[in-house]
Amino acid sequence: MSTVELLAPLHPQMTAWRQDIHAHPELGFQESRTAGLVAAQLELFGIPVTRGVGRTGVVGTLRCGTSARSVGLRADMDALPIVELNGFAHRSTHAGVMHACGHDGHTAMLLGAARYLAETRRFDGTVHFIFQPAEEGLGGARAMIDDGLFERFPCDAIFGMHNRPKLDIGRFAVRSGPMMAGGGYFDVRVKGRGAHGARPESGIDAALVASQIAVSLQSIVARNVAPVDTAVLSVTRIHAGEAYNVIPDTAELGGTVRAFSRDVLRQLGEGIRRVAEGTAAAYGATVEVDVREIFAPTINHPEEAEFAARICSELVGADRVERNPPLIMASEDFSFMLEKVPGCYLNIGNGVADGGCEVHNPAYDFNDRALPLGAAFFARLVETRLAA
Ligand SMILES: [Zn+2]
Ligand SMILES: [Zn+2]
Repeated sequence: MSTVELLAPLHPQMTAWRQDIHAHPELGFQESRTAGLVAAQLELFGIPVTRGVGRTGVVGTLRCGTSARSVGLRADMDALPIVELNGFAHRSTHAGVMHACGHDGHTAMLLGAARYLAETRRFDGTVHFIFQPAEEGLGGARAMIDDGLFERFPCDAIFGMHNRPKLDIGRFAVRSGPMMAGGGYFDVRVKGRGAHGARPESGIDAALVASQIAVSLQSIVARNVAPVDTAVLSVTRIHAGEAYNVIPDTAELGGTVRAFSRDVLRQLGEGIRRVAEGTAAAYGATVEVDVREIFAPTINHPEEAEFAARICSELVGADRVERNPPLIMASEDFSFMLEKVPGCYLNIGNGVADGGCEVHNPAYDFNDRALPLGAAFFARLVETRLAA
């Protein structure tokens, strides 16, 4: 029997977990119900559980045999501040909060794999099931790492996956090297001097300075980043002034940068500072600049990527495994774990029709048909990597 067929009996149970978590979404670091459900199920399977790793994170540790080898499998648990538009029975019951990124599915797949591995125990070594809080920009991966994740639960390698809408059910996408962009946020606060709208000569127009900075920032990617590198800088907010006849004394703008290497991200940060300070000085204004790293680039380790692709090929056939999918400009905080431990992050198809709409969309839903495939990936990975 194939691993997917072996996981099939758990499909109804995984669907029930997934829809229950979907109906009760929780924002980052508030996943107390979800973490409680995960911990209770792991204990039911006989897997020792550590709660409160990185605030609301949970780690289950399953040991079998005598080998010192270990592997970490990671799922994320948090939802987004979105008002759900779906009308199905398992829609969100928490106002303004929604599982619009499929983390409900990721959690259910990893729970399914944990139950299967705890029952069958056909491996020799240690598996850490890592259920991470607060992936959506709030720093959950870092919180777990800072809480000693890899010292307390050492992993030779780590693996995680994200569903991808518009990739067919039964397909996987695996890339070696850079896969998703790293990114940061920035704020620029301009200080000028207020004046009457009809007497600009007596002030320093903060709105004009902010406008010039917004335009000039676009020269950084166009003229400073090498054309063979990939980067984006978007100014996404500008605020200044209240009245028609008052030149504002302050203005604020902010936005996001994304790139696939830490060097390019550093270059973007330095560029923002240089352009903002230089432009402000040219107009007699001053600026405060704040650039913050939110995500590291997600860079897969070649050996682990090859290994993950091999497991996927064994599950669904090599022709259903995309080996060179396009780079993704969005970010993922599993990147911080990949900076500590070799591993691979991959995509699992969420389908084209049902559940086919993009993540972070109020009509999105994780596709339950993907559950046995994702669980089978984790299970087969363990049985192969930690072969008895
Ligand atoms: Zn997301
Ligand atoms: Zn996500």
